[in-house]
Amino acid sequence: MNLPHHSSRRYDVVVVGAGIVGLAHAYEGLRQGARVLVIDQATGVTGASVRNFGHACLTPQTGIAAGFANEARNRWLELADQVGFFARESGTTIVARREEELAVLQEFTAVAGPEHSRMLTADELLAKVPVATEGVLGGAWLPADLQVDPREAAPEIAAWLATQGVDFAWRTRVAAVSSGHVETTRGTIAADMIVVATNHDLDRLYPEIAERIGIVRCRLHMLKAAPTLRMPLATPLLTGWSLLRYSGFAAQPSAPALRERLAREQPAGISYDLNQMYTSPPDGSLIVGDTHERSIDSPPFQSEAGFDLLIGETKTLFGLTDLPVLERWQGVYASAPTQEFVLEEPAPGVHVVTVATGIGMTTALGIAPHTFARSTTASAVRTLV
Ligand SMILES: Cc1cc2nc3c(=O)[nH]c(=O)nc-3n(C[C@H](O)[C@H](O)[C@H](O)COP(=O)(O)OP(=O)(O)OC[C@H]3O[C@@H](n4cnc5c(N)ncnc54)[C@H](O)[C@@H]3O)c2cc1C
Repeated sequence: MNLPHHSSRRYDVVVVGAGIVGLAHAYEGLRQGARVLVIDQATGVTGASVRNFGHACLTPQTGIAAGFANEARNRWLELADQVGFFARESGTTIVARREEELAVLQEFTAVAGPEHSRMLTADELLAKVPVATEGVLGGAWLPADLQVDPREAAPEIAAWLATQGVDFAWRTRVAAVSSGHVETTRGTIAADMIVVATNHDLDRLYPEIAERIGIVRCRLHMLKAAPTLRMPLATPLLTGWSLLRYSGFAAQPSAPALRERLAREQPAGISYDLNQMYTSPPDGSLIVGDTHERSIDSPPFQSEAGFDLLIGETKTLFGLTDLPVLERWQGVYASAPTQEFVLEEPAPGVHVVTVATGIGMTTALGIAPHTFARSTTASAVRTLV
């Protein structure tokens, strides 16, 4: 739907941004019986929500992220069931090729418990994922994690929400938001509750929030390849680099020693803030990533050295002589120095929801119920319907 110019329509809930965070809030509004409009400047879901791995990496989250992630797991499965997109209860496999990686995994497993993390011997690991034998010491398996296809999940949720009565205004830019009103390039919309889910473009609408928190853009090298593997990759695959990143792993006593070793052996990985990881969507290809470079704006130019790093590490891990690359792209997400989420209400009834690190696919569906629960305007909407 495109809004008529100078539209004066009123909604219970207006969501700005049709990525997974915005769609999660539209879904929650729908569940609560609200009249919902989603506005996006693009023609469809084109942001971080289609450029990622499709990995719901629940298990190594801590703090409020863990609560959001656990809630999101139920919503992913519920939505996949209703909408019909691919969602696999795949778990996550982590390969350890250094003693320090094994130590972090052992420490994490001791804390998380065997129902959340199971250690794998080298043989068990090699039977699960198609990595090369050389250098593998073992690994771990996190059974609760999920995998979706990032190219289809969010777009299919948007299409399904539209069939359920949620309105969408594509190619419509939001210029300003205030309590009860959204100013768009197609006119002003009235709304009781407004959710601003514009990812890194938070700074375009709320520069004072972005500057106070230190939000910058994090841009990532990503590619899709078609390697010949000795068996399909049926679970997301993390490596030692991931153990420095996700909070549950990074908090373990052996993490600093692992960082030192990786810095010594792989300085390029440290300077690109590498998180070497993989998923394989249903088409059998391999999604390969990723690097992290942070700045206020996101220059569009991706260095070939970043792609060379990903390709070289992938060949070594899987024992490949060749890695046919199908696509390369840049991903961008909001990044904050000291917090994972921006959850603020800058004016009554206006909720800013930004995932400020790379865990929006893992957590967004669990954040939305929390936003509605703390919103007094949402309670008023609930009483009216
Ligand atoms: C390469 C990469 C890999 C990742 N891998 C994972 C992963 O495996 N697991 C995981 O949990 N997370 C992952 N993430 C993070 C995750 O993808 C993001 O946290 C999540 O997609 C953010 O969702 P969003 O809805 O906030 O943003 P987006 O999907 O970027 O959506 C924001 C939308 O807002 C719209 N918008 C912005 N400003 C305006 C405006 N003024 N008016 C109208 N519309 C506007 C944009 O057009 C856009 O559609 C990854 C991210 C990247 C980039």
